[in-house]
Order: sequence, then structure tokens, then C-alpha cells
Amino acid sequence: MSIPAAAKPYILAVDIGTTSTKTLLVSREGRVMASHAVEYPLYTPAADRAEQDPLDIFRAVLQGVGIVMRKLDARPGDIVCASFSSAMHSLLAVSADTTPLTPCITWADNRSARVADELKASGVGTAIYGRTGTPIHPMSPLTKLMWFREQQPELLQRAFKWIGIKEFVFAKLFGRYVVDYPLASATGLFRLERLDWDEEALQLAGVTRGQLSEPVPAVYRLEGMKSEYAEAMGLDPNTPFVVGASDGALANLGVGATQPGVIAVTIGTSGAVRGIAPRPAIDPQGRLFCYALLENQWVIGGPINNGGIMLRWVRDRLATLEAEEGRRRGMDPYDYLTELAAEVPAGSEGLLFLPLLSGERAPYWNANARGVFFGLSLYHDKKHMIRAVLEGVMLRIHSVAAALQELAGPAAEIRASGGFARSVFWRQMLADVLGARLGVPDAIESSALGAAMLGLLAMGEIADLRQTADWVQLEAVHEPNENDHRTYKQLTSIYESVYHQLKDQFDAISAFQALSHRHASS
Ligand code: ADP
Repeated sequence: MSIPAAAKPYILAVDIGTTSTKTLLVSREGRVMASHAVEYPLYTPAADRAEQDPLDIFRAVLQGVGIVMRKLDARPGDIVCASFSSAMHSLLAVSADTTPLTPCITWADNRSARVADELKASGVGTAIYGRTGTPIHPMSPLTKLMWFREQQPELLQRAFKWIGIKEFVFAKLFGRYVVDYPLASATGLFRLERLDWDEEALQLAGVTRGQLSEPVPAVYRLEGMKSEYAEAMGLDPNTPFVVGASDGALANLGVGATQPGVIAVTIGTSGAVRGIAPRPAIDPQGRLFCYALLENQWVIGGPINNGGIMLRWVRDRLATLEAEEGRRRGMDPYDYLTELAAEVPAGSEGLLFLPLLSGERAPYWNANARGVFFGLSLYHDKKHMIRAVLEGVMLRIHSVAAALQELAGPAAEIRASGGFARSVFWRQMLADVLGARLGVPDAIESSALGAAMLGLLAMGEIADLRQTADWVQLEAVHEPNENDHRTYKQLTSIYESVYHQLKDQFDAISAFQALSHRHASS
């Protein structure tokens, strides 16, 4: 006897990430009842490669679902639906029987850097960005396909399909090739206004429409899974699978940043700023991405390379003695370093840091940018430097948030997540730099939680995502300090002008570095 939908207690949410696949069972009230993460390797056979085995990931999905089902002793019929999140920009080729012909090439793979540079420099690149909303960058499937066109033209043509990792999982489970608008819109091949593949981009990429998946809305449902896989996961084969969206878009839902005026800031190793707009908005200056989510919800924002990794650099390279002192005191070295930084006033007494150590994505998209301490004097010591680095990361976030607000209107509230949010001090600094109220949601797996919300919407169990507003509780709220905000405003304008004046010099120093490395290794 089948269980009526309203009596099914759990939504299954799956988030296919770059390091692991996370699986949650979420109650109808938005409580995470069980969770599990299955990790897999990221292969870097050359400096510019970052690949995964698609079958590892498929197995991780089966395994993760099986484990959470068993953790709660859930019956196959207990699941309202499964709903999926996944990392953006992945690409692999498969044969007609869904056998992978290439590894899964992740967003972090840089093989198409030159192709991307050339396309970006041409008017064609600008026009394609204007229609697709995906910055021309080696992360995008468009430039990866162009690389295959150049390097392996025979494979490009022969492949039955060119797909992303989530499409691969669905093709294995259901024998269907579908891609949600949100993930399609991050390929660089998808025309936002028409919600369809862009003919000119397809031509450049050298693939036919038939070699790509069928684009469908995020709430589209697949049913009738192959029974062997249903059995492996402990699911009823008729469990609806909601195709879902990208991890970035869903993270906005999972932290409660679903309306214009609230922006989500995530700072882990890297970082991202994202807001929601009621219609697509393309940045005329090419600083931001614009991706689809739902009919009247579009995600606009930008990623940064130099997020929490900057504090890690301080801990491991710049302030090693201080980090050691923290450990000696039985503290997390990050906590000790932020305590030292707190001894210095806002603005680090005139020391400014441009944390561009690994080049930068939004808003400058400048791979040659490098780090700069500016204003250093005999007076400054280590704690000024530590504080300047922490402030520098927030100034990076500010420059993306400012571009976002130019495009999508003012934001009065921030939702903060990621490792940096473990520091009360660093969170307050973000509120002060942006001059906005900052809330820290209690959700840990925000993309998976967002997928669960979307699942309920897709099943018609809720009419509007606002009905899940109480799923997200705020653990802490920070109000901006007006004095510090004024200080940071001054610093922000110095920061922007230093960056722009150094643009050509960044090219020179990065070329010089490349040459020095070559000399050193020859
Ligand atoms: P990932 O992006 O790899 O998942 P996390 O979200 O765990 O990483 O974030 C890691 C970063 O969070 C670290 O590099 C560091 O900058 C920051 N971080 C972690 N713990 C603290 C802390 N106690 N205080 C300040 N920053 C912290």
C-alpha cells in the first residue's frame, strides 16, 4: 500500500560538491534529521588540471542516500522527494550507454585559460557574456569545450553527450539527459532570456544541441528510476527526483537570502557574494555572473579567490610565531590571531592590504593581480599586518557587493556563512565594512537545505518558498558600528584607487615571477 504524500515525513536532499557529496534527510519543518558526507579525490595530473572520476561521484550518491536512510530506519515510501544541488561548471563526455569518455572536469580546472583569454579579448566573448551571464573564464564549460575542439576534435564530435556531473547521475538513474536552468545557465552556453541554448555559443564550442541535455526548470521531476539503483539506496523506484539547482543558487535559499535586499556572503577558503533579483540583470562592465534559479528569481553575484585562505596564509607564513603562541596557550591559532588583530583600531592605523595573492576573480577578473601591503611604516607591527589582512578580505567582499548593489539595488541585510563566521570579530568587521546588519544562520549545509526547500515547492507541498522562512534561524546578529563604517568607507576608496593604479604593474610583476620561476627550475 502506498503512503499518501502528506504522510511522508522526509525530504531527501543531495548536494554534489567538489570534495564530497552531502546527503540530508530533512523533516517537513526543515529540521535536519540525518546527514552524511562521502568524500572522493580530486585529481591534479598537471598543474592546470582538476578532475574527478564521475563514477566515484555516482557511487557516493548511492552510498550517501543508503546511509541516511538506514540512519533513520526510513522506509522506501517515507520520502516526499529527492532534490539535488551540485557544484557548477563541471563537464564530461559520455557514450550512448552513459559510459564516461573523459574524467569530470571541475570548475577549478584551468586547461582552457588561453582559450578563455583569447575569447575574452574578442568582441564575441563580450557579446556571449551579455547573453549568457557567465563570465568568460576557464571555469566555464564553454571554454572547456573550445579547448576540446582545439585539442581533441574527434572526441568532441564523437561524444554522445557533453554534460555536467548532476546530469550524469540522472542519466545513470533514469536514462534521461536533463539539465536544470540554473546549472545550464552557468555553462556559458545558455541564453538567459530565452532559457535555451545559445546558437552562437554552441557553434564556438563545436557541439550540437543534440549533444547537450534538455534544459528544464529547477522544479522538474524525474520518476521511474532503475530498480537496481532504487534498491541500492533503499528507495521506492517511484520516488520523484527533483532536478534542483546549483549549489550557489541553493545556498541563497538555505541561508534565507531569497528576496532582493538581502545578500548572502560566504567565506570559506575562497568566497562569494550573491543576491537575488526578480529578473536577469547582466553587468555592463562584466564584473558579475547572473544565473537562473526560478521564474522570478535570478542569482547575481561574484566569486573571490582570496577569502579565508588569506588568514590561513597569515597563520602558516606571516605570523607563524604568533600562531605557535596561540597553540601554546591551547587556543585555535585563528582565534589567537584575531585577538591580536582586535588590539588595533579599525583601519589598522593606516595600513592597507590588497589580498590578491592568487590573482582575483570578481569583480576584476585579473589572474595577474598580486598581494600588496600599502602604507607600511616603522610604526606598524605584526598585529597591524594581521588586521590589515582581515580587513583586506572584507574590502574584497565590499567591491563585489558594491557592484551587485549597483545592478540589483541596495541591500540592507547580509547573511554570512563559511569558516570565517566562526570568528565574532571578523563577522562584525564585515557588518562594519558593508554598513549593513549581518545575520548568521544556523544552517550548516545550506545548499542541501535549499535543495530540500525547492523539493517541497516542486512537489506542490508549498506554494511559495517564503513558507520555509522559519527553517532558517539566526544564531547571531551584528549591527554595523557607524564610526568604524565611516573609517572603512575612506579605506575602501583608497583601496579601489590603489588597485586601479597598479593594474599594469600587476601584469609586469606576474610576468617577472613566471620568468623567475622558470630560471629557478632550469
Ligand atoms: P572550505 O571553503 O575549505 O570548506 P571553511 O568554510 O571551513 O573552508 O573555511 C576555512 C577558513 O575559515 C579558514 O581558511 C579561515 O580563514 C576561516 N576560519 C576557520 N576558523 C576560524 C576562526 N576560528 N576564526 C577566524 N577564521 C576562521
